Amino acid sequence: PRPLSILEAAVSETATARNEISAKHSVIHWFKRDLRTHDNKSLSLASQRAEREGVPLICVFLISEQDYEAHLTSPARVNLEIETVKILKADLEEKLDVPLYVELVGQRKDLPTRIIQLCEKFGARHLFCNIEYEVDELRREALLIRRCADDAGIDFTVVHDACVVQPGELATKQGKQYAVFTPWYKSWLAHIRNNEGEYLHIYEYPSRNHHSAKTKFKDIYVSSVPDAPARKALTNEEKNRLQELWPAGEHEALSRLQRFLDEKSGRYKVERDFPAADCTSLLSPYIACGALSARTIVKSAMERNDGSMDGRCSGIATWTSEIAWREFYKHVLVHCPYICMDKPFKLDYSDLRWEYNSSNFSAWCTGKTGYPLVDAAMRQLRHTGYMHNRCRMIVASFLSKDLLLDWRMGERYFMSQLVDGDFASNNGGWGFASSTGVDPQPYFRVFNPVLQSEKFDPDGVYIKKWVPELQNLYAPAIHFPYERGGGEIARRAGYPRPIVDHQEARKRALARYREALGRY
Ligand code: FAD
Repeated sequence: PRPLSILEAAVSETATARNEISAKHSVIHWFKRDLRTHDNKSLSLASQRAEREGVPLICVFLISEQDYEAHLTSPARVNLEIETVKILKADLEEKLDVPLYVELVGQRKDLPTRIIQLCEKFGARHLFCNIEYEVDELRREALLIRRCADDAGIDFTVVHDACVVQPGELATKQGKQYAVFTPWYKSWLAHIRNNEGEYLHIYEYPSRNHHSAKTKFKDIYVSSVPDAPARKALTNEEKNRLQELWPAGEHEALSRLQRFLDEKSGRYKVERDFPAADCTSLLSPYIACGALSARTIVKSAMERNDGSMDGRCSGIATWTSEIAWREFYKHVLVHCPYICMDKPFKLDYSDLRWEYNSSNFSAWCTGKTGYPLVDAAMRQLRHTGYMHNRCRMIVASFLSKDLLLDWRMGERYFMSQLVDGDFASNNGGWGFASSTGVDPQPYFRVFNPVLQSEKFDPDGVYIKKWVPELQNLYAPAIHFPYERGGGEIARRAGYPRPIVDHQEARKRALARYREALGRY
């Protein structure tokens, strides 16, 4: 059975036991990747429950070093998460008198036990959280539902929140998960149009604790948020740099959303593929840690577009379809959990013969491949924790096709660097670019990194920003210095020669992909 059905089974099996439970001293909301107070389904339901039961609401957030290791979460993302939690704690405690308890937990397997212990410690018989769709998380929650109901007398409510339309709601006529984005997207749009009130319902802001928790739970208010685990800690220089680029918190996320809609959305359709154009929203880190909900985004976009999903502003309509890609990949993850286990969506490519060339991999990671646009993008990633979407596709194609390196090495490297690292979107993006995933580009489509550079960074503005060695070159030389008359300047500046010949590499990739298909 799929993990979501394991969770659903646990909910229905324990329903009777859970119904009989009434509150003791508090209700708990467990924060995970939903670090916001606005439009947070579980938090809102927990607050209503606390009010009904006449007890205070308490929030908890557990930091697990092993969880970060298992997910390869980047230090940039850990840092953003922890800074966001600090802001959340201040907001909850100062504005709502709702305490937020934060703790560092060593072993990932101890999380369920620790949650139950905290419920006991705070006298809570009602625990709420939003679902995370990765396999381990779903299984953990299913286990916790049973343990809560059977052993601890706790009613644990787990709800869908991360997507506008929850996984499992959209199916083809044959009742299967869509394997192609466009028909899925049409169905997603139709669902929302037909049930706007349900899908775009914005959940009530939590109410102020009538029954102050201050006397009974004073310790929580005075407790501080722990620092990032040592292996994920940033230097002060890195911290300052990243915090300037990505100021933490849901207030920043909400104001970025408004700024995008006001200032950039009009040119999004035309300019979104140009990395130097600065016309995308730069919201992904906030969406990934849950500082902003998908419902709020889609609703705000619609309001700016005559109240419809595809109104007069084509920029907003195109942007909404990009938001939908994120959701498409989450739906795929729920239906095909094997993608969490290092398997490609297209199993035909399971045993493609990859090259394992560590010096090429290291040249790719450090931005020294001799292909300027690839190098600019990889250096942007290392410096900012972020990379423009067009460049993500180009560097992923370059790794898996030109270098014929296993796409999973790239997927893992991305997670270890990205401030917006999200398993489903990252895995989906890598599957798309390496032609091994759901709705991928055909395997014989291999991006030419020089043509992509000429098309999407015609004046080399993006390249010059990230590859200072090429500052004194102009188009056409800047796109491929050693072949376009810029070799001497590039050599003197220490810029490397190309590590592969694109045309040769393309032929090799096509042969290997064909071989894998033939073997299957
Ligand atoms: P905008 O263009 O403003 O889009 C708005 C939002 O829509 C984004 O913030 C994001 O949440 C979503 N979105 C946009 N494009 C995509 C897409 N193609 N797939 C899924 N969601 C999308 N996105 C992540 O959030 N986390 C990742 O780990 C991630 N890894 C990727 C790896 C590869 C190889 C590729 C090709 C794409 C990946 N993406 C990932 C998708 C995309 O590149 C980023 O979401 C986007 O660049 C973020 O910038 P933005 O917020 O300015 O996007």
